[in-house]
Amino acid sequence: MATSVENEQVMPAVRDFIRNGPKRLFIGGKWVESQEGKTFDDIDPATGEGLAQVYEAKEADVDRAVAAARRAFEGTWSSLTSGERGKLLWKLADLMEAHQLELAQLESLDTGKPINEAMIGDIPQAINHFRYFAGWAGKVTGETLTPYGPSLPGEYLAFTRREPLGVVGAIVPWNFPLMITSWKVAPALACGNTVVLKPSEMTPLTALRLAELTQEAGFPPGVFNVLPGFGQPAGAALADHMGVDKISFTGSVVVGRSVMQAAAQSNFKRVTLELGGKSPNIVFPDADLDAAISGVMMGIFFNQGEVCCAGSRLFLPKSQFESMLQGLADRAKQIRQGPGISPMTTMGPLISEKQMNRVLQYIETGKQEGAQVVCGGDRNEAAGPGYFVQPTILLGEDRMTVSQEEIFGPVLVALPYETFDEVIQRANDTPYGLAAGIWSRDIKTALKAAHRIKAGTVWVNGYNVLDASSPWGGFKQTGVGREMGSYALEHYTEVKSVWVNLT
Ligand code: NAD
Repeated sequence: MATSVENEQVMPAVRDFIRNGPKRLFIGGKWVESQEGKTFDDIDPATGEGLAQVYEAKEADVDRAVAAARRAFEGTWSSLTSGERGKLLWKLADLMEAHQLELAQLESLDTGKPINEAMIGDIPQAINHFRYFAGWAGKVTGETLTPYGPSLPGEYLAFTRREPLGVVGAIVPWNFPLMITSWKVAPALACGNTVVLKPSEMTPLTALRLAELTQEAGFPPGVFNVLPGFGQPAGAALADHMGVDKISFTGSVVVGRSVMQAAAQSNFKRVTLELGGKSPNIVFPDADLDAAISGVMMGIFFNQGEVCCAGSRLFLPKSQFESMLQGLADRAKQIRQGPGISPMTTMGPLISEKQMNRVLQYIETGKQEGAQVVCGGDRNEAAGPGYFVQPTILLGEDRMTVSQEEIFGPVLVALPYETFDEVIQRANDTPYGLAAGIWSRDIKTALKAAHRIKAGTVWVNGYNVLDASSPWGGFKQTGVGREMGSYALEHYTEVKSVWVNLT
Protein backbone atom coordinates (compact mmCIF):
# COMPACT_ATOMS: atom_id res chain seq x y z
CA MET A 1 0.00 0.00 0.00
CA ALA A 2 1.12 3.55 -0.71
CA THR A 3 2.31 5.79 2.11
CA SER A 4 1.37 9.43 2.66
CA VAL A 5 4.45 10.42 0.61
CA GLU A 6 2.33 9.73 -2.49
CA ASN A 7 -0.06 12.52 -1.49
CA GLU A 8 -0.13 15.18 -4.21
CA GLN A 9 0.57 17.91 -1.63
CA VAL A 10 4.05 16.53 -0.92
CA MET A 11 6.87 18.61 -2.39
CA PRO A 12 9.32 16.80 -4.70
CA ALA A 13 12.17 17.84 -2.38
CA VAL A 14 10.47 16.07 0.54
CA ARG A 15 9.77 12.97 -1.54
CA ASP A 16 13.41 12.85 -2.67
CA PHE A 17 14.70 13.35 0.86
CA ILE A 18 12.60 10.48 2.19
CA ARG A 19 13.34 8.10 -0.68
CA ASN A 20 17.04 8.86 -0.74
CA GLY A 21 17.76 6.21 1.87
CA PRO A 22 18.64 4.52 3.99
CA LYS A 23 19.15 7.78 5.86
CA ARG A 24 22.61 7.96 7.41
CA LEU A 25 23.96 9.13 10.75
CA PHE A 26 25.56 12.58 10.89
CA ILE A 27 28.87 12.37 12.75
CA GLY A 28 31.76 14.84 12.65
CA GLY A 29 30.25 16.67 9.67
CA LYS A 30 29.97 13.46 7.58
CA TRP A 31 27.05 11.25 6.57
CA VAL A 32 27.99 7.76 7.62
CA GLU A 33 26.48 4.30 7.87
CA SER A 34 26.14 2.86 11.35
CA GLN A 35 29.06 0.70 12.46
CA GLU A 36 26.92 -2.47 12.34
CA GLY A 37 25.22 -1.44 9.10
CA LYS A 38 21.71 -2.27 10.39
CA THR A 39 18.69 -0.22 9.37
CA PHE A 40 15.18 0.24 10.76
CA ASP A 41 11.86 1.32 9.30
CA ASP A 42 10.42 4.71 10.13
CA ILE A 43 6.65 4.13 9.95
CA ASP A 44 3.98 6.38 8.41
CA PRO A 45 1.36 6.62 11.20
CA ALA A 46 -1.43 7.48 8.73
CA THR A 47 -1.05 4.15 6.89
CA GLY A 48 1.08 1.89 9.08
CA GLU A 49 3.45 1.39 6.12
CA GLY A 50 7.22 1.99 6.06
CA LEU A 51 7.92 5.66 5.29
CA ALA A 52 11.73 5.76 5.29
CA GLN A 53 14.66 3.50 6.03
CA VAL A 54 17.21 4.71 8.52
CA TYR A 55 20.57 3.42 9.75
CA GLU A 56 20.41 2.53 13.42
CA ALA A 57 22.99 4.06 15.75
CA LYS A 58 24.30 1.82 18.54
CA GLU A 59 26.97 2.12 21.26
CA ALA A 60 29.94 2.25 18.87
CA ASP A 61 28.27 5.06 16.95
CA VAL A 62 27.61 6.94 20.18
CA ASP A 63 31.34 6.66 20.95
CA ARG A 64 32.20 8.04 17.50
CA ALA A 65 29.77 10.94 17.78
CA VAL A 66 30.84 11.89 21.31
CA ALA A 67 34.50 11.85 20.22
CA ALA A 68 33.68 14.09 17.23
CA ALA A 69 31.73 16.47 19.46
CA ARG A 70 34.62 16.59 21.94
CA ARG A 71 37.13 17.39 19.21
CA ALA A 72 34.90 20.18 17.91
CA PHE A 73 34.37 21.52 21.42
CA GLU A 74 38.07 21.66 22.15
CA GLY A 75 38.93 22.89 18.68
CA THR A 76 37.05 24.98 16.16
CA TRP A 77 33.91 25.72 18.16
CA SER A 78 35.75 27.14 21.16
CA SER A 79 37.98 29.23 18.92
CA LEU A 80 35.02 31.09 17.42
CA THR A 81 33.87 34.30 19.03
CA SER A 82 30.44 34.31 20.60
CA GLY A 83 29.38 36.68 17.82
CA GLU A 84 30.44 34.14 15.19
CA ARG A 85 28.46 31.44 16.97
CA GLY A 86 25.42 33.68 17.10
CA LYS A 87 25.77 34.46 13.41
CA LEU A 88 25.77 30.75 12.53
CA LEU A 89 22.67 30.14 14.64
CA TRP A 90 20.92 33.04 12.94
CA LYS A 91 21.95 31.75 9.52
CA LEU A 92 20.55 28.33 10.41
CA ALA A 93 17.24 29.97 11.39
CA ASP A 94 17.18 31.77 8.01
CA LEU A 95 17.74 28.49 6.18
CA MET A 96 15.01 26.81 8.21
CA GLU A 97 12.68 29.62 7.28
CA ALA A 98 13.56 29.26 3.61
CA HIS A 99 12.68 25.56 3.89
CA GLN A 100 9.70 26.02 6.20
CA LEU A 101 7.11 24.15 4.13
CA GLU A 102 9.52 21.31 3.46
CA LEU A 103 10.28 20.93 7.18
CA ALA A 104 6.57 21.11 8.02
CA GLN A 105 5.75 18.40 5.49
CA LEU A 106 8.52 16.15 6.79
CA GLU A 107 7.26 16.64 10.34
CA SER A 108 3.66 16.02 9.36
CA LEU A 109 4.51 12.85 7.44
CA ASP A 110 6.70 11.50 10.21
CA THR A 111 4.47 12.28 13.22
CA GLY A 112 1.02 12.25 11.58
CA LYS A 113 0.24 15.75 12.86
CA PRO A 114 -1.89 18.10 10.73
CA ILE A 115 0.27 20.05 8.29
CA ASN A 116 -1.43 23.29 9.36
CA GLU A 117 -0.37 22.73 12.97
CA ALA A 118 3.21 22.06 11.87
CA MET A 119 3.16 25.23 9.76
CA ILE A 120 1.84 27.52 12.47
CA GLY A 121 3.33 25.76 15.48
CA ASP A 122 6.31 23.40 15.31
CA ILE A 123 8.40 24.97 12.59
CA PRO A 124 8.03 28.71 13.42
CA GLN A 125 8.64 27.84 17.09
CA ALA A 126 11.83 25.99 16.15
CA ILE A 127 13.02 28.88 13.97
CA ASN A 128 12.27 31.40 16.74
CA HIS A 129 14.28 29.35 19.20
CA PHE A 130 17.38 29.51 17.00
CA ARG A 131 16.94 33.27 16.52
CA TYR A 132 16.25 33.93 20.20
CA PHE A 133 19.31 32.00 21.35
CA ALA A 134 21.45 33.43 18.54
CA GLY A 135 20.81 36.72 20.33
CA TRP A 136 21.99 35.27 23.64
CA ALA A 137 25.31 33.97 22.27
CA GLY A 138 27.17 37.20 23.05
CA LYS A 139 25.29 37.95 26.25
CA VAL A 140 26.13 35.00 28.46
CA THR A 141 28.04 36.86 31.13
CA GLY A 142 29.07 36.48 34.75
CA GLU A 143 28.79 38.96 37.61
CA THR A 144 31.19 41.17 39.49
CA LEU A 145 30.86 40.41 43.19
CA THR A 146 31.46 42.63 46.15
CA PRO A 147 32.71 40.30 48.90
CA TYR A 148 30.58 40.76 51.99
CA GLY A 149 33.27 39.38 54.27
CA PRO A 150 36.08 37.27 52.80
CA SER A 151 37.59 34.49 54.90
CA LEU A 152 41.04 36.08 54.79
CA PRO A 153 42.01 39.70 55.38
CA GLY A 154 42.96 41.70 52.34
CA GLU A 155 41.36 43.18 49.30
CA TYR A 156 39.96 41.03 46.54
CA LEU A 157 38.10 41.32 43.30
CA ALA A 158 35.72 38.45 42.79
CA PHE A 159 33.77 37.73 39.65
CA THR A 160 32.01 34.85 37.96
CA ARG A 161 32.26 33.40 34.49
CA ARG A 162 29.68 31.26 32.74
CA GLU A 163 31.55 28.60 30.79
CA PRO A 164 30.18 25.97 28.43
CA LEU A 165 29.76 22.46 29.83
CA GLY A 166 31.30 20.64 26.87
CA VAL A 167 29.46 17.86 25.04
CA VAL A 168 25.69 17.91 25.45
CA GLY A 169 23.58 14.81 24.73
CA ALA A 170 20.05 15.70 23.66
CA ILE A 171 17.34 13.02 23.73
CA VAL A 172 14.06 13.99 22.11
CA PRO A 173 10.56 12.43 21.90
CA TRP A 174 8.30 12.02 18.87
CA ASN A 175 5.48 14.47 19.51
CA PHE A 176 7.23 17.74 18.53
CA PRO A 177 10.52 16.46 17.11
CA LEU A 178 12.05 19.58 15.56
CA MET A 179 10.59 22.03 18.05
CA ILE A 180 11.89 20.13 21.11
CA THR A 181 15.21 19.63 19.33
CA SER A 182 15.48 23.41 18.99
CA TRP A 183 14.72 23.90 22.72
CA LYS A 184 17.91 21.96 23.44
CA VAL A 185 20.26 22.54 20.53
CA ALA A 186 19.83 26.32 20.25
CA PRO A 187 20.77 27.21 23.87
CA ALA A 188 23.44 24.48 24.02
CA LEU A 189 25.24 25.86 20.96
CA ALA A 190 24.67 29.50 21.92
CA CYS A 191 26.46 28.81 25.22
CA GLY A 192 29.42 27.25 23.38
CA ASN A 193 28.72 23.53 23.82
CA THR A 194 28.66 20.90 21.10
CA VAL A 195 25.76 18.49 20.70
CA VAL A 196 25.00 14.84 20.04
CA LEU A 197 21.29 14.54 19.30
CA LYS A 198 19.29 11.34 19.47
CA PRO A 199 15.86 11.90 17.95
CA SER A 200 13.07 9.43 18.60
CA GLU A 201 13.30 6.27 16.52
CA MET A 202 9.76 7.05 15.38
CA THR A 203 10.51 10.54 14.03
CA PRO A 204 14.13 11.04 12.93
CA LEU A 205 13.53 12.91 9.67
CA THR A 206 13.52 16.61 10.60
CA ALA A 207 16.62 16.16 12.80
CA LEU A 208 18.45 14.72 9.79
CA ARG A 209 17.26 17.55 7.54
CA LEU A 210 18.35 20.04 10.23
CA ALA A 211 21.82 18.49 10.13
CA GLU A 212 21.96 19.15 6.37
CA LEU A 213 21.04 22.76 7.02
CA THR A 214 23.80 23.11 9.64
CA GLN A 215 26.24 21.98 6.94
CA GLU A 216 24.83 24.54 4.52
CA ALA A 217 25.02 27.25 7.19
CA GLY A 218 28.72 26.44 7.70
CA PHE A 219 28.83 24.97 11.20
CA PRO A 220 32.23 23.34 11.81
CA PRO A 221 32.24 19.52 11.67
CA GLY A 222 31.36 17.80 14.95
CA VAL A 223 29.51 20.75 16.48
CA PHE A 224 26.17 19.08 15.79
CA ASN A 225 25.80 15.31 15.41
CA VAL A 226 22.66 13.25 14.86
CA LEU A 227 22.22 9.61 15.84
CA PRO A 228 18.91 8.11 14.81
CA GLY A 229 18.31 5.02 16.90
CA PHE A 230 16.37 3.45 19.72
CA GLY A 231 16.33 4.32 23.41
CA GLN A 232 18.10 1.03 23.97
CA PRO A 233 20.94 0.99 23.13
CA ALA A 234 21.63 4.47 21.67
CA GLY A 235 19.81 6.72 24.17
CA ALA A 236 21.00 4.71 27.15
CA ALA A 237 24.59 4.73 25.87
CA LEU A 238 24.48 8.52 25.60
CA ALA A 239 23.07 8.88 29.13
CA ASP A 240 25.75 6.55 30.47
CA HIS A 241 28.69 7.98 28.51
CA MET A 242 31.72 9.29 30.41
CA GLY A 243 32.45 11.72 27.59
CA VAL A 244 29.06 13.45 27.79
CA ASP A 245 28.89 16.41 30.16
CA LYS A 246 25.16 16.95 30.16
CA ILE A 247 21.98 15.19 29.09
CA SER A 248 18.94 17.18 28.19
CA PHE A 249 16.06 14.72 28.06
CA THR A 250 12.40 15.08 27.12
CA GLY A 251 10.21 12.02 27.37
CA SER A 252 8.47 9.74 29.80
CA VAL A 253 8.90 9.62 33.57
CA VAL A 254 10.13 6.01 33.46
CA VAL A 255 12.93 6.77 31.02
CA GLY A 256 13.70 10.10 32.72
CA ARG A 257 14.35 8.19 35.93
CA SER A 258 16.74 5.81 34.16
CA VAL A 259 18.56 8.74 32.53
CA MET A 260 19.10 10.35 35.94
CA GLN A 261 20.34 7.04 37.37
CA ALA A 262 22.74 6.59 34.47
CA ALA A 263 24.06 10.12 35.01
CA ALA A 264 24.60 9.45 38.70
CA GLN A 265 26.29 6.12 38.07
CA SER A 266 28.62 7.40 35.37
CA ASN A 267 30.13 10.87 35.70
CA PHE A 268 27.40 12.91 37.43
CA LYS A 269 26.73 14.59 34.13
CA ARG A 270 24.31 17.49 34.44
CA VAL A 271 20.72 16.54 33.72
CA THR A 272 17.59 18.38 32.75
CA LEU A 273 14.37 16.42 32.47
CA GLU A 274 11.10 17.45 30.86
CA LEU A 275 8.69 14.63 31.59
CA GLY A 276 4.99 13.89 31.70
CA GLY A 277 1.90 15.73 32.79
CA LYS A 278 -1.75 15.43 33.73
CA SER A 279 -2.59 19.08 33.54
CA PRO A 280 -5.79 20.59 34.91
CA ASN A 281 -7.89 23.02 32.92
CA ILE A 282 -10.23 24.84 35.33
CA VAL A 283 -13.29 26.76 34.17
CA PHE A 284 -14.64 29.14 36.82
CA PRO A 285 -18.36 30.05 36.78
CA ASP A 286 -17.66 33.64 35.63
CA ALA A 287 -15.60 32.58 32.58
CA ASP A 288 -16.35 33.57 28.99
CA LEU A 289 -17.79 30.14 28.25
CA ASP A 290 -17.38 30.25 24.46
CA ALA A 291 -13.73 31.16 24.81
CA ALA A 292 -13.32 28.48 27.48
CA ILE A 293 -14.82 25.81 25.22
CA SER A 294 -12.42 26.73 22.41
CA GLY A 295 -9.50 26.76 24.85
CA VAL A 296 -10.44 23.41 26.36
CA MET A 297 -10.74 21.84 22.89
CA MET A 298 -7.34 23.15 21.84
CA GLY A 299 -5.88 22.21 25.23
CA ILE A 300 -6.69 18.52 24.76
CA PHE A 301 -7.10 17.81 21.05
CA PHE A 302 -4.19 19.80 19.58
CA ASN A 303 -1.57 17.39 18.17
CA GLN A 304 -3.97 14.44 18.77
CA GLY A 305 -3.57 15.02 22.50
CA GLU A 306 0.04 13.80 22.25
CA VAL A 307 1.16 16.84 24.18
CA CYS A 308 3.02 16.82 27.49
CA CYS A 309 1.00 19.79 28.75
CA ALA A 310 -2.37 18.55 27.41
CA GLY A 311 -5.21 19.91 29.55
CA SER A 312 -6.49 16.39 30.13
CA ARG A 313 -8.38 16.97 33.39
CA LEU A 314 -11.22 19.41 32.86
CA PHE A 315 -12.77 20.88 36.00
CA LEU A 316 -16.22 22.36 35.34
CA PRO A 317 -18.51 24.08 37.85
CA LYS A 318 -21.44 21.81 38.73
CA SER A 319 -23.90 24.55 37.77
CA GLN A 320 -22.65 24.65 34.14
CA PHE A 321 -21.53 21.06 33.80
CA GLU A 322 -24.22 19.73 31.45
CA SER A 323 -24.28 22.70 29.06
CA MET A 324 -20.49 22.91 28.76
CA LEU A 325 -20.14 19.20 28.22
CA GLN A 326 -22.71 19.38 25.45
CA GLY A 327 -20.87 22.32 23.87
CA LEU A 328 -17.60 20.37 23.95
CA ALA A 329 -19.13 17.20 22.53
CA ASP A 330 -20.68 19.19 19.66
CA ARG A 331 -17.29 20.70 18.86
CA ALA A 332 -15.49 17.34 19.10
CA LYS A 333 -17.80 15.93 16.43
CA GLN A 334 -16.64 18.64 14.01
CA ILE A 335 -13.02 17.46 14.16
CA ARG A 336 -11.87 16.08 10.79
CA GLN A 337 -9.55 13.10 11.17
CA GLY A 338 -7.31 11.97 8.34
CA PRO A 339 -3.67 11.91 7.20
CA GLY A 340 -1.82 14.89 8.63
CA ILE A 341 -0.47 15.85 5.23
CA SER A 342 -3.96 16.65 3.93
CA PRO A 343 -4.74 20.36 4.56
CA MET A 344 -8.36 19.45 5.45
CA THR A 345 -7.28 17.33 8.42
CA THR A 346 -7.71 18.83 11.89
CA MET A 347 -6.60 15.72 13.80
CA GLY A 348 -4.10 13.14 12.59
CA PRO A 349 -3.32 9.56 13.65
CA LEU A 350 -1.47 8.63 16.82
CA ILE A 351 2.21 7.91 16.39
CA SER A 352 2.16 4.10 16.48
CA GLU A 353 0.01 1.02 16.84
CA LYS A 354 1.40 0.63 20.35
CA GLN A 355 0.37 4.16 21.31
CA MET A 356 -3.08 3.70 19.76
CA ASN A 357 -3.63 0.48 21.70
CA ARG A 358 -2.41 2.13 24.89
CA VAL A 359 -4.91 4.96 24.48
CA LEU A 360 -7.77 2.55 23.63
CA GLN A 361 -6.87 0.46 26.66
CA TYR A 362 -7.07 3.55 28.89
CA ILE A 363 -10.56 4.29 27.51
CA GLU A 364 -11.56 0.69 28.23
CA THR A 365 -10.20 0.89 31.78
CA GLY A 366 -12.09 4.16 32.23
CA LYS A 367 -15.34 2.48 31.21
CA GLN A 368 -14.69 -0.48 33.51
CA GLU A 369 -14.10 1.90 36.41
CA GLY A 370 -17.40 3.66 35.73
CA ALA A 371 -16.53 6.56 33.44
CA GLN A 372 -19.29 7.58 31.04
CA VAL A 373 -18.39 8.11 27.38
CA VAL A 374 -19.74 11.51 26.31
CA CYS A 375 -18.33 11.22 22.78
CA GLY A 376 -15.77 9.16 20.85
CA GLY A 377 -14.29 6.22 22.71
CA ASP A 378 -13.13 4.09 19.78
CA ARG A 379 -10.67 3.66 16.96
CA ASN A 380 -11.67 5.65 13.88
CA GLU A 381 -11.21 3.24 10.98
CA ALA A 382 -13.10 5.52 8.61
CA ALA A 383 -10.24 8.02 8.87
CA GLY A 384 -7.77 5.58 7.33
CA PRO A 385 -5.78 2.40 7.91
CA GLY A 386 -3.41 4.15 10.34
CA TYR A 387 -3.61 4.70 14.07
CA PHE A 388 -6.67 6.93 14.41
CA VAL A 389 -8.51 7.28 17.73
CA GLN A 390 -11.70 9.35 17.94
CA PRO A 391 -11.60 12.55 19.99
CA THR A 392 -12.98 11.28 23.26
CA ILE A 393 -14.63 12.93 26.25
CA LEU A 394 -15.26 10.95 29.41
CA LEU A 395 -17.28 11.97 32.42
CA GLY A 396 -15.17 10.71 35.27
CA GLU A 397 -14.11 10.91 38.89
CA ASP A 398 -10.75 11.81 40.41
CA ARG A 399 -10.03 8.28 41.66
CA MET A 400 -10.22 6.72 38.17
CA THR A 401 -7.09 5.68 36.30
CA VAL A 402 -8.03 7.96 33.38
CA SER A 403 -8.03 10.94 35.78
CA GLN A 404 -4.69 10.06 37.29
CA GLU A 405 -2.36 8.73 34.59
CA GLU A 406 -1.02 10.45 31.53
CA ILE A 407 -2.86 9.00 28.50
CA PHE A 408 -1.00 10.98 25.81
CA GLY A 409 -3.85 10.83 23.35
CA PRO A 410 -7.13 12.61 22.51
CA VAL A 411 -8.93 11.77 25.74
CA LEU A 412 -10.45 14.41 28.00
CA VAL A 413 -11.82 13.61 31.44
CA ALA A 414 -14.47 16.04 32.66
CA LEU A 415 -14.86 16.42 36.43
CA PRO A 416 -17.51 18.53 38.21
CA TYR A 417 -16.60 20.71 41.23
CA GLU A 418 -18.36 23.10 43.61
CA THR A 419 -15.97 25.44 45.42
CA PHE A 420 -12.73 27.34 44.69
CA ASP A 421 -10.71 25.69 47.47
CA GLU A 422 -11.95 22.26 46.49
CA VAL A 423 -11.00 22.62 42.84
CA ILE A 424 -7.52 23.96 43.60
CA GLN A 425 -6.85 21.09 45.97
CA ARG A 426 -8.08 18.53 43.42
CA ALA A 427 -6.20 20.18 40.54
CA ASN A 428 -2.96 19.90 42.53
CA ASP A 429 -3.61 16.30 43.56
CA THR A 430 -1.27 14.72 40.99
CA PRO A 431 2.40 13.75 40.97
CA TYR A 432 2.89 16.01 37.92
CA GLY A 433 3.15 19.79 37.66
CA LEU A 434 3.79 20.92 34.10
CA ALA A 435 0.95 23.27 33.21
CA ALA A 436 -2.57 24.43 34.04
CA GLY A 437 -5.32 26.50 32.45
CA ILE A 438 -7.60 28.90 34.31
CA TRP A 439 -10.72 30.44 32.76
CA SER A 440 -12.21 33.41 34.59
CA ARG A 441 -13.15 37.04 33.96
CA ASP A 442 -12.33 37.97 37.56
CA ILE A 443 -8.70 39.02 37.95
CA LYS A 444 -8.67 38.12 41.64
CA THR A 445 -9.98 34.60 41.06
CA ALA A 446 -7.56 34.08 38.19
CA LEU A 447 -4.51 35.34 40.07
CA LYS A 448 -5.34 33.53 43.31
CA ALA A 449 -5.69 30.32 41.34
CA ALA A 450 -2.48 30.99 39.38
CA HIS A 451 -0.58 31.47 42.65
CA ARG A 452 -1.90 28.31 44.24
CA ILE A 453 -1.58 25.91 41.31
CA LYS A 454 1.60 23.83 41.49
CA ALA A 455 2.78 23.89 37.88
CA GLY A 456 5.63 25.33 35.84
CA THR A 457 3.27 27.24 33.55
CA VAL A 458 -0.20 28.62 34.25
CA TRP A 459 -2.28 30.06 31.42
CA VAL A 460 -5.13 32.45 32.24
CA ASN A 461 -7.83 32.51 29.54
CA GLY A 462 -5.59 30.69 27.09
CA TYR A 463 -3.80 27.39 26.58
CA ASN A 464 -0.69 25.97 24.84
CA VAL A 465 0.96 29.39 24.45
CA LEU A 466 4.75 29.10 24.34
CA ASP A 467 7.59 31.39 23.46
CA ALA A 468 11.35 31.02 23.36
CA SER A 469 11.60 33.84 25.94
CA SER A 470 9.42 32.21 28.60
CA PRO A 471 10.73 29.36 30.80
CA TRP A 472 9.29 25.89 30.34
CA GLY A 473 9.47 22.96 32.73
CA GLY A 474 7.70 21.31 35.56
CA PHE A 475 7.15 21.09 39.29
CA LYS A 476 7.15 17.73 41.07
CA GLN A 477 7.68 14.60 38.95
CA THR A 478 7.37 16.50 35.68
CA GLY A 479 11.07 17.06 35.82
CA VAL A 480 14.17 18.96 36.70
CA GLY A 481 15.29 22.33 35.37
CA ARG A 482 13.86 24.71 32.83
CA GLU A 483 14.17 25.14 29.09
CA MET A 484 13.67 28.38 27.16
CA GLY A 485 14.30 31.96 28.16
CA SER A 486 17.33 33.12 30.10
CA TYR A 487 16.63 30.23 32.51
CA ALA A 488 17.92 27.74 29.92
CA LEU A 489 21.37 29.37 30.00
CA GLU A 490 21.92 28.20 33.56
CA HIS A 491 21.46 24.63 32.38
CA TYR A 492 24.03 24.83 29.59
CA THR A 493 26.84 26.54 31.50
CA GLU A 494 28.99 26.02 34.59
CA VAL A 495 29.59 28.95 36.90
CA LYS A 496 33.16 29.65 37.90
CA SER A 497 34.20 32.06 40.68
CA VAL A 498 37.47 33.89 40.08
CA TRP A 499 39.24 35.66 42.98
CA VAL A 500 41.95 38.22 42.36
CA ASN A 501 44.14 39.24 45.29
CA LEU A 502 44.59 43.02 45.15
CA THR A 503 46.88 43.37 48.17
P1 NAD B 1 10.07 8.01 25.85
O1 NAD B 1 10.57 8.31 27.22
O2 NAD B 1 9.66 6.63 25.53
O3 NAD B 1 11.18 8.38 24.76
C1 NAD B 1 11.76 9.66 24.70
C2 NAD B 1 13.13 9.55 24.07
O4 NAD B 1 13.95 8.77 24.95
C3 NAD B 1 13.16 8.83 22.72
O5 NAD B 1 14.14 9.43 21.91
C4 NAD B 1 13.57 7.42 23.10
O6 NAD B 1 14.23 6.71 22.06
C5 NAD B 1 14.54 7.69 24.24
N1 NAD B 1 14.73 6.57 25.16
C6 NAD B 1 13.91 5.51 25.39
N2 NAD B 1 14.47 4.68 26.31
C7 NAD B 1 15.64 5.24 26.68
C8 NAD B 1 16.65 4.89 27.62
N3 NAD B 1 16.56 3.79 28.36
N4 NAD B 1 17.69 5.73 27.78
C9 NAD B 1 17.78 6.88 27.06
N5 NAD B 1 16.88 7.25 26.15
C10 NAD B 1 15.81 6.46 25.96
O7 NAD B 1 8.93 9.06 25.59
P2 NAD B 1 8.05 9.23 24.29
O8 NAD B 1 7.06 8.13 24.29
O9 NAD B 1 8.92 9.42 23.11
O10 NAD B 1 7.34 10.63 24.58
C11 NAD B 1 6.21 10.73 25.35
C12 NAD B 1 6.54 11.27 26.73
O11 NAD B 1 7.29 12.47 26.63
C13 NAD B 1 5.29 11.63 27.51
O12 NAD B 1 5.39 11.16 28.82
C14 NAD B 1 5.30 13.15 27.49
O13 NAD B 1 4.63 13.76 28.54
C15 NAD B 1 6.74 13.47 27.49
N6 NAD B 1 6.99 14.81 26.94
C16 NAD B 1 7.30 15.82 27.80
C17 NAD B 1 7.50 17.12 27.34
C18 NAD B 1 7.83 18.25 28.29
O14 NAD B 1 8.20 19.33 27.83
N7 NAD B 1 7.70 18.06 29.58
C19 NAD B 1 7.39 17.37 25.98
C20 NAD B 1 7.07 16.32 25.12
C21 NAD B 1 6.88 15.03 25.62
